[in-house]
Amino acid sequence: MQGFNKYYPPDYDGEKHGSLNSYRGKHALGDRARKLDQGILITRFELPFNIWCGTCNNHIGMGVRYNAEKKKIGNYYSTPIFSFRCKCHLCDGWFEIQTDPKNTRYVVVSGARQKDEEWDPEENGGFAVHDTDGNAAPVDPLAALEKTTDAQIHQTKVQIPRLESLMDVSDRYNSDPYSLSLKARKHFREDKKIWKEKEKSDVQVKDRYALPTNFSLAEEDGETIKEAREQWRKAPLA
Ligand SMILES: [Zn+2]
Repeated sequence: MQGFNKYYPPDYDGEKHGSLNSYRGKHALGDRARKLDQGILITRFELPFNIWCGTCNNHIGMGVRYNAEKKKIGNYYSTPIFSFRCKCHLCDGWFEIQTDPKNTRYVVVSGARQKDEEWDPEENGGFAVHDTDGNAAPVDPLAALEKTTDAQIHQTKVQIPRLESLMDVSDRYNSDPYSLSLKARKHFREDKKIWKEKEKSDVQVKDRYALPTNFSLAEEDGETIKEAREQWRKAPLA
């Protein structure tokens, strides 16, 4: 039996034994690893569909679970293909089910018959999703549209000149980044000076009239001055 606790017996020697499992001569996966030397791991496998056992001919429902012998039997590109060998619980006959990564499903390989309950899209007026046999590329409506003369004329007359002009603009802006940056920063410094002064005078006004600090004041220009004067005429402050 596996060790289920961390008890280190007195004769345990870390250098000699390495781990507690190897001290007891057990694999970390316990009994499930008893066929690991053959590349088989015992796992719990749940039937993905209804089957009939090939030996006793009994119907076995989807979802019945077995202690299956899981084994890697190949690859589909980089995806491993696994085989699950299960022993029928009604007759002790064996059956084997494999994964089918190409069609993203499971297939019964031997010892049983699968009940065919798959929904076939083609049978129902649809299209097969996993059509991997056809060599013809699928019809791409956008690719087809790009090949029309209208699209080609649009490309040569509109899109290419537009791209060229954008590239011209980009080239102009990137030709001398230093002087452009200098200009921008100088401009910004001047603006900043004006903002600072305006902010200072705004704060003074707010202080004088005890207005909240986050109160935004109107811009002082000809229009607002005129408006203020009119208001003053109508209702002068007491
Ligand atoms: Zn059976």
